This record gives sequence, C-alpha cells and structure tokens, in this order.
Amino acid sequence: MSQSQAAVDARSGIPLTTLSEDELMFRASVREFADGELRPRVREMEARAKLDPALIKQCFDLGLMGIEVPEEFGGAGASFFSAILAVEELSRVDGSVGVLVDVQNTLVNNALIRWGNPEQQKKYLTQLASESVGAYALSEAGSGSDAFAMQTRAVDKGDHYVINGQKLWITNGNEAKVFILFANANPEAGYRGITAFIIEKDFPGFTVGKKEDKLGIRASSTTELILEDCKVPRENVLGEAGKGYKISIETLNEGRIGIGAQMIGIARGALESAIAYTAERQQFGKPINQFQAVQFQLAEMATQLEAARLMVYNAARMKDAGINFVKEAAMAKLYASRAAERISSLAIELYGGYGFVKDYPVEKYWRDSKIGAIYEGTSNMQLQTIAKLLIGK
Ligand SMILES: Cc1cc2nc3c(=O)[nH]c(=O)nc-3n(C[C@H](O)[C@H](O)[C@H](O)COP(=O)(O)OP(=O)(O)OC[C@H]3O[C@@H](n4cnc5c(N)ncnc54)[C@H](O)[C@@H]3O)c2cc1C
Repeated sequence: MSQSQAAVDARSGIPLTTLSEDELMFRASVREFADGELRPRVREMEARAKLDPALIKQCFDLGLMGIEVPEEFGGAGASFFSAILAVEELSRVDGSVGVLVDVQNTLVNNALIRWGNPEQQKKYLTQLASESVGAYALSEAGSGSDAFAMQTRAVDKGDHYVINGQKLWITNGNEAKVFILFANANPEAGYRGITAFIIEKDFPGFTVGKKEDKLGIRASSTTELILEDCKVPRENVLGEAGKGYKISIETLNEGRIGIGAQMIGIARGALESAIAYTAERQQFGKPINQFQAVQFQLAEMATQLEAARLMVYNAARMKDAGINFVKEAAMAKLYASRAAERISSLAIELYGGYGFVKDYPVEKYWRDSKIGAIYEGTSNMQLQTIAKLLIGK
C-alpha cells in the first residue's frame, strides 16, 4: 500500500471538517490570538494601511510563520492543513493578516521546503520561521495571467547572476526580508529559461518601490520591486536553473488552497457579524431575524460557506495525503472567492444602511473578498485549469 493510500485509509469515514486533537488545539490557539490580539488592531491597521510590526512579531512567536517548517529549523513541523486552518481563522478577523501568513507558509516556506537544498533550507527556513517575513515575486506590469512572459532578466556571471527588471503587486513587499523571485536567465529558451532566485532585501541593486493604495486588504502591503544590476550569488538559485516555471506553477497550485482558506475566513467573519446583527436589530417591533426572508438569506449564506469550506478542506487534505489536487485546488479557490463575495455582500444588505458605513465591519469583509478572484490566478485562469483537466488538454 502506498503512503498516500495509507493516509487516505486512515481517514476514511471521518468527516472532512472533523479535526484531530492537534488540529483542534492549534485552531483554538489561533482563534484566541485572532480575537484577543488581532481584532482590537484591525481598524487602525486598515486606516493606516499598515500591519502593526508588534503583531507580526506575535505571529512569529506563536509559530504561525513557520507552520510546515521542520522542527530542526525552528518551525512547528505541522501539516499543510494546519496552515489552512490558521489562514482561515486569521482571515475571519482580518484578511490582511490572513494573507501575510498565507504567503509566508503556502508560497515562500513551501517553495523552500520543496526545492531548497540543505544549505538554503538551514539558512532561510530558520529565519523565516523565527523573524523574517517572506514574499513571492512573479508578476510584472506586463505579465500577470501570462506570467511566463516576464521581462526580468538574469545574466549568468559565473559565481553570481546579475538581475535587471521590475516586479509589481508583491504582497508583503514592505515587510519582507527574503524574496523568492523569478527571472528569465535564458530568454531564447522561452519559459524554460525562467529561474527562481532567493533574494535578500539588502542585496546590492535591490529596492522596494511604490506601495499600492488598494480597495481591500489595505493593511497588507502590495509593492513594486526594482532590480538594477542586482547581484545574486549562484548558491541562491532555488532548484535548478531553468526550472523556475515548474516551481512557480507547482507552488501556486498549493497557494491557491490558501487563498480559498482566506476567502472562507472572510465569509465566516461576515456571516457571524450578520447573525449577531440580525438578532439585535429591531424593526416592526421585533428582531429582524424573526422575518423568514432574513432567515432564508442567512441560511443561503451558511450553505454557500459550508460548500466552500468543504472544497477548501478537501483540497488541503488531498495535498497532505499526496494525492493530485490541482483541479480541486482551482475549484476551491474559484468557488470560495465567489462565495465570500456573495456572503459579504448579503451581510451588507442585512445591516441596511449601517452595512454601508465604516463604523461596522461588513463593508470591509466585502472589499477584502474581492481580491480572491484576482490573485494567484484570476477566476478565468482557474476555469482554464479546471477545463483543461476535464477535457484532457
Ligand atoms: C493585492 C494584490 C496582491 C498580489 N500579490 C502578488 C504576489 O505576492 N506575487 C505576485 O507575483 N503577484 C501578486 N499579485 C498579482 C496577481 O497575481 C495578478 O494581478 C493576477 O495574476 C492577474 O494579472 P494582471 O493583473 O496582469 O491581469 P491580466 O492578466 O491582465 O488579466 C486581466 C483580465 O483578463 C483576463 N484574462 C487574461 N488572460 C486571459 C485568458 N487567456 N483567458 C481568459 N481571460 C483572460 C483575466 O482573467 C482578467 O480578468 C497581486 C495582485 C494584487 C492585486
């Protein structure tokens, strides 16, 4: 019996949402942190469009920045599913902190765990689990969905590479010290020239550019990166030169489940707010949740959230079991981002006029939900992945 089959058999008959003792304890600790430490800071971080550095430190101290990092490097040595639980719980309170932790775990740490050599893992995973925020830099002004059309170039100079170009839209750009950055080192070979590099913030020729002023997840920094004759030691090539396309595709396949988790967290936050508000708000002499139309709206929201959650949990459990999860991950992100947008929009309507103003939390959930259809592959790109796998192209 294969290892993955054993993992499946061990879980057979267990509902997807049933958590192990360890998962329950972990989720409870993240929930306590999110409600106790994060919630009181959300409004100010949103208004200042900046994450509180003290909160980021707390994320490290709690082990949230190295969930899957092996214990020998100071990480928690936990599963991918645990990272998904953390992103969901944090995003229920704030999607910006949700994506900070998501990018760190599902993209940056994951890429190093999978493709880093022993020296790179020792050096960078140790930092990433304890003090350094990471970022993942693929997109450029002219290449988003068509990511492999990137114009950033790396020239092999023997013991180092010289990189020139600009990246755009990079999450954690302002906080990060370690960047997984993709550049083409052999443009004649097309996408087979794309190479992944590990770049430190203070490498010569590397600067962080303009920060975007965004609709949602406003406290999360999204920045430009500028590389002007940036000198990167040869030992900082991640995986093999020319295999960056594979690293980027495979990392994003996993990352997508994390965005699904961010979306179900946002949707849960919106639904919980709507349930509480509709129990309190009185019209026509009774709480508005006594009207059947309102009850049905809440029931629709809860049903869509449940479906999204099952899809996200299933894709994550498949990943941990070593089963091919690419289609399910794309479906989970697609569905969860749509569900989050619908649920948070309905939450605004259930708050009436109060839903439309910043004194109440639901308009933020809606603004934060919008990013789910855009990053780590737009909804059209998810549909393309799903369709290709369906028709076998
Ligand atoms: C807040 C934020 C954070 C981000 N964080 C990161 C990050 O950390 N790292 C990173 O590398 N990138 C990041 N991105 C970039 C993000 O991944 C891209 O914005 C996304 O991939 C879309 O690319 P684009 O913006 O160039 O849109 P385009 O690719 O220009 O797409 C525009 C529209 O055209 C559609 N479209 C394009 N091609 C096709 C096609 N073949 N078929 C059908 N429809 C198509 C798209 O679906 C979309 O609706 C972030 C973006 C934002 C807004």
